[in-house]
Formats: sequence, C-alpha cells, structure tokens
Amino acid sequence: MRPDLNRCDGRAARWTLRAIGEAVSTPSPATLERAYRVRLRPTKAQARVLSRLFGAVRGVWNWALREKEAAWRADGTKLSGIDLSRLFTTLRQAPETAWLGELPREPFNQVLRNFDTAWRNFFSGRVRRPRRKRFGTVQSARFTLDQRRRGLVAVQGKHGSVQLDGIGRVRFRVSEPMLGRLRSVTVSRDGAGRWFACFTADGVPTPATFTAMLPSIGVDLGLRDTAALSTGEKVAAPKHLCHALATLRRYQRHYGRQRDAAARRQGLDPGRALPKGTRIDVSNRMRVTRQRIGHLHARIADRRRDHQHQLTARLVASAQVICIEDLAVKAMGRSTGWRAFRRSVGDAGLGEIRRQLVYKAAWRGRVVSAVGRFYPSSKTCSACGHVYGGLRRNDDHWVCRPCGAAHDRDYNAAITIEREGLRLLAEGSGGDAGSTRRSRGTDARGEFACAAGSSSPAGQPSSSNREPDRRAAPPPIPSTSRDGPVNAGGG
Ligand SMILES: [Zn+2]
Repeated sequence: MRPDLNRCDGRAARWTLRAIGEAVSTPSPATLERAYRVRLRPTKAQARVLSRLFGAVRGVWNWALREKEAAWRADGTKLSGIDLSRLFTTLRQAPETAWLGELPREPFNQVLRNFDTAWRNFFSGRVRRPRRKRFGTVQSARFTLDQRRRGLVAVQGKHGSVQLDGIGRVRFRVSEPMLGRLRSVTVSRDGAGRWFACFTADGVPTPATFTAMLPSIGVDLGLRDTAALSTGEKVAAPKHLCHALATLRRYQRHYGRQRDAAARRQGLDPGRALPKGTRIDVSNRMRVTRQRIGHLHARIADRRRDHQHQLTARLVASAQVICIEDLAVKAMGRSTGWRAFRRSVGDAGLGEIRRQLVYKAAWRGRVVSAVGRFYPSSKTCSACGHVYGGLRRNDDHWVCRPCGAAHDRDYNAAITIEREGLRLLAEGSGGDAGSTRRSRGTDARGEFACAAGSSSPAGQPSSSNREPDRRAAPPPIPSTSRDGPVNAGGG
C-alpha cells in the first residue's frame, strides 16, 4: 500500500452537493428484466447429449457461413435468415445429416438468429465479419421456454428442474427465488466442466429500495486499485487473483512444452508453423495439464466476478448518485503497445463493473452519472480547480502549485469525477435511473486522450474514425486462405 498522503479535502464539495443528490432520486420502474444464473446438475446421459448439441451448434454456425458465402460467390445471392432456416430444415431431413434431427431444433433456430444478427451488426459497421467457430469454442446452447406449456420449470425449496426439449428434465440448484416470467434458458459449461443455466426473465418486480447513506459518491476505476472512492477509501485489486495469474502462466508454459514435445514425436518442427489440418496427439498427461488450466481459469473468473459483484453492490447500497468515468473500453482494447495491452487487460474487468453498476442502479432507483472520457479527472485540483498540465502517467502524487494542496492521484480523481458527474446532473440533463450521461471534457489533450487511442484527433471520440473504412469494405470476401480444412458436419 502506498502512504496515505492526502490532501485537500472534498468536504466543501460534498456540502454543496447534498441538495442535488436529494433532488435527483428517481422512482425505479415497476418491473424489470433480469437473468438468473444457476448451477445445473445434468445426469451423465444428459451431459453427453448437451456436449453433442454444443458441437452441433458450432457445426451449424459454420455450415451457415459456408452456405452464405457460397451463394454470394455463385451469383451474388444474399441469403437471409429465413432462407437459411429453410435450408436447415432440408439439411435436417437429408439422410447423411439425419443425426441433426435427433437433437432438439430450438437451439439451432437460436444460432441461426444469432448468425443473422452477427451479419446485421457487421453491415452496420459495428463489429468485424462473422468468422468460423473453432473446435471446442462453443460451450453453450439456448432454449426458449414456450409460454404455452406449463410446468417447464419447477422449483421446490432449493431444488429446481427444467424441461429441455430433447434432453429431458434437468435438475439445478436454486440460489435465489426466481421471480417473473422465465423466457429462455442458456445452458453452458465452463473450463472446469461445471454446468450452468442462465434463465432470462421479464416482469420481475423491482426490489424494495432504501435510502442511501451518502447522497453521492465518485469512483475512479483503475488497475492497481480496482477503485478509488471519493470517500477516501481504496478498493485494492484482489491479490490472490494476481497470484493465480502467475500460476496460470506456469501451467500454460508447461502445456506449451508438452505440445512441442508431442509435435517432435510426430516428426514435426514446433519452431515453425504447423501445416494446416495437422492434429497433434493428446497424451493423458497433456489432458491433465489442460484440465488444470481449465480449473484455474474457472477459479480466476469466479474470484474476479465475486470481487466485482461485491464492489458494485456496495457502491449501489452506499450512495444515491454514483459518478464514474466513461472509459473508452473498446478503443483501449484496439490500440497497440505494451501499455495499451496492460490497460485492456484490466478493461475487461472495468467494463463489467460499469455494466453491473448501471443495472444494479436501475434496480435500486439510483442514478449513474458518467463523466466524459476526456474530462481531466486526475490532473484537476479538487481543492482549487487548477488543471495541472505536467502530470505524468506514473505520478502517484502531485502538489498543486497555486493552492499548495498535496494530492493522491486516484483519490483526487474520484473527487473531481464526483463533482463533474453531479454538475452534469444539475445542468439539467437530469438523471433517470440506470441510464448514463456523457459530458464533453474541456481538455482533450489529456492523458486519457492518449490512452484511448493516439490516432484520434483531440476532442473526438476515437471510435468514430474507424467506421467508414469498415463499412466501405464489400461484405463477404471469398477468402480461401482463412477457411482451411473444414470438418463437415461438426461435433
Ligand atoms: Zn489546487
């Protein structure tokens, strides 16, 4: 831990803001949509069918991709989702792919819908072109729950069960009462071989809200400390996570050596790229290492999730208005270089924290105010408002020349974020629960502008200058190099 050096105090600010904090409390909606994630307990036979289903879902995705590209290449036909669905029906009836008919239809409808959405997102320039899914990457399938059928989901105490088409009744463990109307269920398996079901529900009654202790709080999200709060508290990034990551690297090196050795045994040179389509035999010891990696991954994910949920739940419980920084999560992931990498690693976590804050705020009738990403939160003095231009990236502490206040960088940022967030709300942009507000920073040449993507001109969101060239690209480019050998059928 760093010495607690502060500080000019944020008390003056809090005093003026109390009135605003009370003014913006909004009623939460009557009902909401949410998801319930439960641990699934399939029997061995059910697990086998589900594994087969995952493989088949992947196969159908790749099949749809091939069909769409082939049709485009042949005569420029654009296959729609409906066309593909029709083609899929004939595929299911064909004798050589009759095994598809033994599996439930609904997850395939779902994957074709996802396929359609993926293309629509691509054409609108939001995302990259849909790609083939590699072996073992699909570990989930979605079933819709038909509202006309009764008793699909039964819950008794801590024991629940769900009727899945073609699978049967699968038991699960209930962790909280599942309210509302259950619409669909996604079955998945994680790296440690655990099964989960994620139910989506609508019409869920909003939980009772209670008055928060604080009118407002400012949160500066970071990597070393997950969050610095304007109350002066710092939430450290969990250390055991760091330790687990080191172990993970060790396991992965181990697996890499095993794989190289196996390649050598097969007469291949592991130093060079293996020819396409080669399969390396997996020994039992390699399997053990792979299992270890999977377990560790699952544990890391669990810990990170737990940490995030605890932090966001506490923030939402503690303050009526939560001010955060509107980080350019996507742009950071795109930029290159070591530092950007380090940032993007943390970003996955930061983006998730923000997502949780927004939805939990909606549940509790809280307001989330997001400060523009170019707002110079770290280098604005929280005591006098002076913007210190000379703040470098590694400076943990700095002294404000005009007023002489000594600042802890993150704590100071949390205070200025809180102040700016409240200013935005008071400005009349108002605040409805759950939605976030954006502001335009005054100093765009700040450190965050650099971190968010140095290619963008100052003052402009860096995400905007990538759209045109992607949209201009012709949709399905017949690529021969990327496709490689295709395993027909899938599974
Ligand atoms: Zn100052």
